[in-house]
Amino acid sequence: HMSQVKKYLNVEPVTPDGRRIEVELNIACATPQELAGAAYTDGVGLFRTEFLYMGRDRLPTEEEQFQVYRKVLEAFQGRPVTLRTLDIGGDKKLDCLALPKEENPFLGNRALRLCLSHPQMFKTQLRAALRASVYGNLWMMFPMVSSMEDIHQAKAAVQEAKNELEMEGIPYSEDMKLGVMIEIPAIALMADQIAKEVDFASIGSNDLCQYLTATDRMNPAVAEYYRSFHPAMFRLIGYAAQPFLSEGKEIGVCGEMGGDPLSAAVLIGLGITRLSMGASSVPHIKKLITGLSYERAKEIAQKVQHTALAQDVRRLLQEELQQLL
Ligand code: PEP
Ligand code: MG
Repeated sequence: HMSQVKKYLNVEPVTPDGRRIEVELNIACATPQELAGAAYTDGVGLFRTEFLYMGRDRLPTEEEQFQVYRKVLEAFQGRPVTLRTLDIGGDKKLDCLALPKEENPFLGNRALRLCLSHPQMFKTQLRAALRASVYGNLWMMFPMVSSMEDIHQAKAAVQEAKNELEMEGIPYSEDMKLGVMIEIPAIALMADQIAKEVDFASIGSNDLCQYLTATDRMNPAVAEYYRSFHPAMFRLIGYAAQPFLSEGKEIGVCGEMGGDPLSAAVLIGLGITRLSMGASSVPHIKKLITGLSYERAKEIAQKVQHTALAQDVRRLLQEELQQLL
């Protein structure tokens, strides 16, 4: 099966009726193996930078981070590299940063919140990313955004880092895009206003499912309640995508749903044009795209949103997409 699907690795991801889908990579450590994916993808849709901070006893310096970010940008030669700022807390811990124990870490001081409460640490990362931005096409995005206030604060931190670099005579790209992850329902419901405030958004379906269904994504006791095929997921994603599409701004999906052909088909039908995934999913998703017309994907998305049971959604998708899996 794998050798058959491998031939799709290098095909253009265009639907039979001519809709181009950007197929991007999720990366973490910027290993040579990950960067080799530049040969058959349209960019990096999610660079999980927290892996630079994990498993070490002191925070990475600005210079260390700059070198890694530069390496990734150069490897992707002008294609977008979507750098997600530090997403720590929740399931991910840092040895180099002592944090108080929390009752509900997934609802706690996580990701952007943690960065805003540690301005010096945040600024070091922002400066490193801005310095690297002149070596490629950097898109910067913030995780765990829950309000417009969060976006204003994140933007202010970026502006402060830019001001510092300017005073020091250090160059950065004026073209860097700023975006948010949509992984909290509150921000999905504010998409009309968010789409006017940022350059792009990326849906983090892993956390979106956790927060929408109120199910801890790490707790096996409630695993059956974590239903990414819950019709509410597709309704909310469709709702959040619409304002971005009509503003002409990029909206993608970088959670697991983007790399699963069953859910990716629905996402395409909801108008999503960027899917980011682990390297092993790329040929499967390209196979799906080259075989599924946008018109048919739209019909499937309509049906799915009006199905009641997650298990019926899955069954329907398996039947509809049989030939393309
Ligand atoms: C997500 O939440 O879907 C996501 C891509 O981020 P992570 O899995 O790193 O939390
Ligand atoms: Mg997440």
